[in-house]
Parts: sequence; C-alpha cells; structure tokens
Amino acid sequence: MDLRRCSILSYELWNEAKNLFAGGVNSPVRAAVKPYPFYTRRAKGAYIETEDSKQLIDYVLGYGPLILGHSHPKVLNAVKNQLEKGWLYGTPSVAEIKLAEKITKHVPSAEMVRFVNSGTEATMTAIRLSRGFTGRKKIIKFDGNYHGAHDYVLMDAGSAASEFGVPFSLGIPEEVASTVIVCPYNDISCVERTIRKEDVAGVIVEPVMGNMGVIPPNSNFLKDLRSLTREFNSLLIFDEVITGFRLGLGGAQSYFGVKPDITTLGKIIGGGFPIGAICGSRDVISYLTPSGKVFNAGTFNANPVSMIAGLATIEELEKGNAYRISEKAAKILAEEIDSLIKIEHVVNRVFNFFQFFLGVKKVENAGDARKSLREVYVKVHEALLREGVFVPPSQFEALFTSIAHDDDVINRTIEAFRRVLGEVH
Ligand SMILES: *Cc1c(COP(=O)(O)O)cnc(C)c1O
Repeated sequence: MDLRRCSILSYELWNEAKNLFAGGVNSPVRAAVKPYPFYTRRAKGAYIETEDSKQLIDYVLGYGPLILGHSHPKVLNAVKNQLEKGWLYGTPSVAEIKLAEKITKHVPSAEMVRFVNSGTEATMTAIRLSRGFTGRKKIIKFDGNYHGAHDYVLMDAGSAASEFGVPFSLGIPEEVASTVIVCPYNDISCVERTIRKEDVAGVIVEPVMGNMGVIPPNSNFLKDLRSLTREFNSLLIFDEVITGFRLGLGGAQSYFGVKPDITTLGKIIGGGFPIGAICGSRDVISYLTPSGKVFNAGTFNANPVSMIAGLATIEELEKGNAYRISEKAAKILAEEIDSLIKIEHVVNRVFNFFQFFLGVKKVENAGDARKSLREVYVKVHEALLREGVFVPPSQFEALFTSIAHDDDVINRTIEAFRRVLGEVH
C-alpha cells in the first residue's frame, strides 16, 4: 500500500493490517470494533477524528487513562518541555520523586512506590511480592476480574479474554494455573472457605470490576476481604489500575474506606503514556530489589516522559473540576440511557464510569454479565458509531467520561442514543 497517499480509508488500512498483525491488531479488543476498526488520525478533548474524516465522541478514552480527555494542553506542554531535555536517562530524575510524592500523599495505603511500565507488570510484580513477603504460594482472584496479560492472572479474566471465549489462554502451564484459585466476585463465603484451607499469599481484586462492564462491590465485600486477609495473614491487593485517581484522588480505597496492603496503579497516573506502579507500606515495598529479594527491574521504569505526563495530570486533577465534570456527565448519561432502553436492562455506574447491560435485571458478578444480550450490545455499538459516538465495542468494557465531556458533548451524545436506542426492542 502507498502510505504516502494523503488519505487512506480505514477499510484499506484494515485490509493491510490483517496481513501484518494477528487478527489485524495489536490488542484484541480493538478488532471488535464494527464493521471493522476505524483508524484514528488525531484526537482532542472528547473527540476522535478518524482517517475517514469522521468526528466521534469518545467514551473509550484509551480504555481508561484519559480522564483529562485527548491532548490536554497541560499534559501536552509538560511533555513537550520534557522532550527538549531528553526522554530516557537510565538514571533517576526529579520527576519520579514528584510523582511518587503525589501518589503517597493521596492514596491512603501508599507509603512507597515502584514504577513500572504497564498495569500488567504492576500486578505481576504485586503477586510475586505477596508471595515473597508471606513465603506462601496460592493467590485468590475473582471471576471476571482482569489484571493484565501475564500467566498468573488469565484464569477467568474479564474483557478481551471473555469476549473471545478464552478464559484460559493456551500456553499457561497447569503448574502455574494450579496456584491461582478463582472465586465469584461479591462471594465472600468462597474466599472464606479457600483462605481457611489453602496457603494463601494474597487476594487480588478490582475494587470495582471494570473489565466485565462495570460491577460495583456489594456493601460489605471489600471490608470483609480486608478482615479475612488480616485474620489469615494474607495480603490484600487492590488492583486500582482503572479506579486509581478515577474515583477521586484516593481511588477506590478512599471511596470505599478500605485500605489494602498492596495497590497496583496504571492508566491515569501516566496521563496517557505507558505506566504502572506498585505501592504499599514501607515494610512490604522494601521487599523489592535492591533493598529486598523480590526481583523487579525495567529499562523504561520511571521514564521521565511518563512521570511528567502523570504529574501534570494529577496536578490538574487536584483542582477538582475533572471529577465534578466527569461525574456529572456519567450520571446524566447513565440516567438518560436507563430511561431510553425499553427492554429489560440494567445500568451499573460508579462515579464517573458505567456500562449498560441488555436483557438482564441485575449484574452483580461475571456470571450475570455473561447472560446479557451481547449481540444486541454490539449492534448498539455499531449504530452509535454511525451516529458519531464511540462506546466500547465489547459489553465487557466500560464507558468512561472526562473533563472534556461538557454539556454540549453530553447533549449530542443523548441525541445519538435517542436515535439508536429507539430501534432496540
Ligand atoms: C488495564 C488493566 C490492567 C492492565 O494494564 P495494562 O497497562 O493494559 O497492562 C490491569 N488491571 C486492570 C484492573 C486494568 O483495567
């Protein structure tokens, strides 16, 4: 294909991509966009402009990180300034201290931090840390919770893994899988039974499930997890890769008032650049190399560009507007969608992210979510794209809002939803 041509349509790019990438993409959910993935030319605020010159209102927002919308000027300027000074040093830089100070100031359980490059690396390291710290082997995770793409967390994982019906990836040795026990979300009795009889190093949980649509925790679920893990000397790991700095500066642990032993962060704390972090108390985090014996390292760990972008993002979040605007947008939209759908359905919203499920009355765990009318959801997604609104292509992802989702954006979105949901019987 002649890539010098000034305009190449998405379907031409997609046909070329299918020869180059497995399934045409580099992360599976992107292939679920119907009728074929659109290619993005540029993006600003709440809008994406496609290679087909369409403007789309974006509720995917990079699958979570862009709480300030696309190309926020504060982040853009901070990154530009940093690029002038170099982008990789292989040495510490001031920016990592400033970002870690923000995190330890705002996130209640965080006294120390280790920066890595993705949420996947963060949960992989957190699990190793819980095993190294306790000297135990088993991990409890929850059905439908997604913690990234490494071997220890792909048992009954959400989003991409569920969408394609591969809860178990090929290539994971039985020996690895046998060290991870899966309980239904919001089912504390399963955790209690398991923790009594097994050698549990850690319990890893999404404090709000954001990878099976949106599923909030039952009123006592997180508190009960806290008291059980404490009683049995296991570590409680909150995977706050989505909820961290989304449900407010203190994340889900502030929002619900439950303090985990280890917190994993990612997405928002990099302001749209690659990042992950493991945080916790001094005694736990000190187990990481070089002060401790649980290994972690990375060429790009704490690279100055991600640090600066994250810092600029948190400074903007501290002003409060982003939370006020994104929550208002999510609330209005969720209520509007709820009233527009005429068939049985439920809309699950927590603060500034939400998802609607068709054909079911309640969704409290992954099993409920799997019963929803997913093929109808996909049709709604496709129809909304034609109307200029980009919602996740999968039922098992969330709609996110940002500081850029102002009244005008919301009104246009509601108009599009009216036209589309009127057709759903
Ligand atoms: C996205 C996500 C991850 C994985 O993060 P990556 O940066 O994609 O590796 C882990 N946990 C949760 C809860 C996530 O939503």
